[in-house]
Amino acid sequence: MTKHYNVALDGPSGAGKSTIAKLLSSRLKIMYLDTGALYRAVGLKAFRDGWKEDDSAVAELIKSVSISVKYDEETGKQLVFLDGENVSEEIRRDFVSGYGSRFSALPSVRAALLDLQRHIAKEYSSVLDGRDIGTFVLPNAEFKFFLTASVDVRAKRRYDELIARGQEADLEKVRADIEARDYRDMNRAVAPLKKADDAVVIDSSELSVEEVADKMLKIINGAE
Ligand code: C5P
Repeated sequence: MTKHYNVALDGPSGAGKSTIAKLLSSRLKIMYLDTGALYRAVGLKAFRDGWKEDDSAVAELIKSVSISVKYDEETGKQLVFLDGENVSEEIRRDFVSGYGSRFSALPSVRAALLDLQRHIAKEYSSVLDGRDIGTFVLPNAEFKFFLTASVDVRAKRRYDELIARGQEADLEKVRADIEARDYRDMNRAVAPLKKADDAVVIDSSELSVEEVADKMLKIINGAE
């Protein structure tokens, strides 16, 4: 496919969005924008500077924060910069995602990150993964998927990922965190996690990464 297009990939934490998004973007030879990384960068800033979850205060603070994305020329990997510092590794720490999730509920944070996401999507054909890409950021995306999986499967995946990174983890705690994050993401007032009416739902609980990607590729390539 040569024309410009975007793939919106939404779903809860641990459904496999980033793994699938990476695979899809490499098969389709298009960009991948991990939007969760942007919220994690805000979470890291909030943690470092001791921000309070007060939207009017954060609305002021966020004006002076610079978050940007670059793609590594050799690997094509997305790098995230916070005020010029490469924080791509640090934002992967488990506590940062909790901060990202809390601060992502604030309207001022979502507004601050909206232009960046739309700009990248306009500039490049991309796969964007997140929570509100198909419903809010790119309501006219050419392809929309909602990827989900049971809480148990998602908790086990997140736990294995943390252990593989050499971080300490407790499966019960990871499960409780995922449930709390689901609740927060689905019940916040602004841009809640919700399937777009025209998104294709895929439950990855019993599917391999390849099987999920194949289902999506069939739909995308079938539209050529
Ligand atoms: O996807 P990831 O776990 O990296 O995202 C971190 C947090 O950022 C999520 O728990 C979610 O609350 C928030 N997020 C969001 N909207 C997005 C992407 C992530 O609210 N598009």
